[in-house]
Amino acid sequence: MIADSLRSVRSTLPEGVTLVAVSKTKPVELLMQAYEAGQRVFGENKVQEMVDKAEQMPEDVEWHMIGHLQSNKVKYMASFVSLIHGVDSLKLLAEIDKQAAKNGRVQDVLLQMRIATEYTKFGMDEADLENLLTSAQFSNMKNVRVRGLMGMASFTEDESQIQKEFSYLKQVFDRFKHRPDFDLLSMGMSGDYLLAIECGSNMVRIGSSIFGDR
Ligand SMILES: *Cc1c(COP(=O)(O)O)cnc(C)c1O
Repeated sequence: MIADSLRSVRSTLPEGVTLVAVSKTKPVELLMQAYEAGQRVFGENKVQEMVDKAEQMPEDVEWHMIGHLQSNKVKYMASFVSLIHGVDSLKLLAEIDKQAAKNGRVQDVLLQMRIATEYTKFGMDEADLENLLTSAQFSNMKNVRVRGLMGMASFTEDESQIQKEFSYLKQVFDRFKHRPDFDLLSMGMSGDYLLAIECGSNMVRIGSSIFGDR
C-alpha cells in the first residue's frame, strides 16, 4: 500500500523537510493513491511524462522536474512546473527565464552541483556556480528565482564518502544562503536521505521507498 509506505517515510522526516515523492515510471493510479494520502509534491525526471501525468492529476499538485533537462523541452512544462531541480548551465537558465516570461511566471529553480566521485556530465562545480551567480546575464534575468542547490551523492555503500559529499554541498549552500530566496537544499534519495538530513538537507527526493522498485 502506497499510503502505508508514504506514512512510514513521513514519520522519519523532521519538520521543515519537504518530501518530493519521486513517481517516475509509475502509473497515475499509484500517484493518486499517494495524493489521496495527502501527498502534493511529486517529482518526475522526464518532461513528457510529467506533462501527461499533470493533465490527469488534480490542479493542486506541485510538480518538480528532478531530471536532467534539455533546453528545447523547457517550453512544454513552463506553464505549470513548480520547481526545476537540475539546472546546471547559464544557457539552460536563460531558456527557463525566457519561457517563464512568456507564461507570465517567475520560475523557481535549484542549481545542480556535481558532488559525486563518479564521472557525470551533469552538475556544476563551485567555480561554475560562482560564475553563474555573478554573471551580468544572470543579473538581467527577471523571471527565474534561484531557490538553492541540488546534488546527488556517489552510488556507493561507503557512508563516510556519502557524508563527505553531502557535507560539502551543505557548506557551499551556506556560502550562498545570504542571497534572497535561497533557502532550499535538495539532497537525499531512498538509500541516503536520513544521512542527507543529518547533513542539512531540507528537501528529499524519495521514489522507491514509497512506490516500490522501478
Ligand atoms: C529517481 C531519482 C530519485 C529517487 O530515487 P529513489 O532511489 O527511488 O528514491 C531522486 N533523485 C533523482 C534525481 C532521481 O532521478
